[in-house]
Amino acid sequence: MAQIELSAIRKSFDGTDVLKGIDFHIADGEFISLVGPSGCGKSTLLRIIAGLEPQNSGEVHIDGRQVDGIRPSARNLAMVFQSYALYPHLSTFDNIAVPLRMRRLSAIERLPLLGALLPSRRAKERHIRADIEGIAEQLDITPLLRRKPGQLSGGQRQRVAVGRAMVREPLAFLFDEPLSNLDAKLRVHMRAELAELHSRLKATFVYVTHDQAEAMTMSSRIAVMMGGELIQAGTPAEIYNEPGDIRVAEFIGSPK
Ligand code: ADP
Ligand code: MG
Repeated sequence: MAQIELSAIRKSFDGTDVLKGIDFHIADGEFISLVGPSGCGKSTLLRIIAGLEPQNSGEVHIDGRQVDGIRPSARNLAMVFQSYALYPHLSTFDNIAVPLRMRRLSAIERLPLLGALLPSRRAKERHIRADIEGIAEQLDITPLLRRKPGQLSGGQRQRVAVGRAMVREPLAFLFDEPLSNLDAKLRVHMRAELAELHSRLKATFVYVTHDQAEAMTMSSRIAVMMGGELIQAGTPAEIYNEPGDIRVAEFIGSPK
């Protein structure tokens, strides 16, 4: 779990200001949604937190550590995108095992045939199996471990993607519109799943969406962005009942 502190984050592309000075604090274990119309800078901000995009100025602190210039993998965050990029030829188990094997097996142990003969590899594989079984239980995907992505529903694939992110023991999960490729019915179902997942993991979730209804139903707090600025943050009820200005009211659909 982690808290994330953003101070005066600015970003421009080709001379156009996309983020105009974002100051924001994300608390440990909260489910915060960044909402706003398409093009307002949500993905750019998330990518800056993840380290996938450098900001022009301002600072990002994760658990008090300044991470600017630190590469994405060293930030210990899990990014879950809308396309889950599971390996189609690998089972659920092997998809989740990829980052564990990369981290725990030596280059020789990773060789498919020779590596499998090594006692050290077999011992490590036992630990990997135990870890994956624990995660599968937490995510309720144990019956899916032998299936390949083509035999999973969209929602199940997403849980597998979260499982693969979990093995890295991330400090926080960053989601960029992960439901936008799903059909409407499944999207509604997945809202409940994500909310449940958050209450189970108690990890920090930073969730980007242009769908205000999605954010209203899942998040503990919502931050509304417009035109590169963060204009209001509060609980779903606060944002709905006391929109800070007309743009927020219109976007959220509050009564006028
Ligand atoms: P959102 O996720 O809220 O839809 P983005 O953060 O993707 O918005 O984009 C914000 C603005 O920055 C948009 O105008 C977009 O066209 C622009 N933008 C994003 N990434 C790039 C890039 N790599 N190069 C140039 N412009 C970009
Ligand atoms: Mg986006």
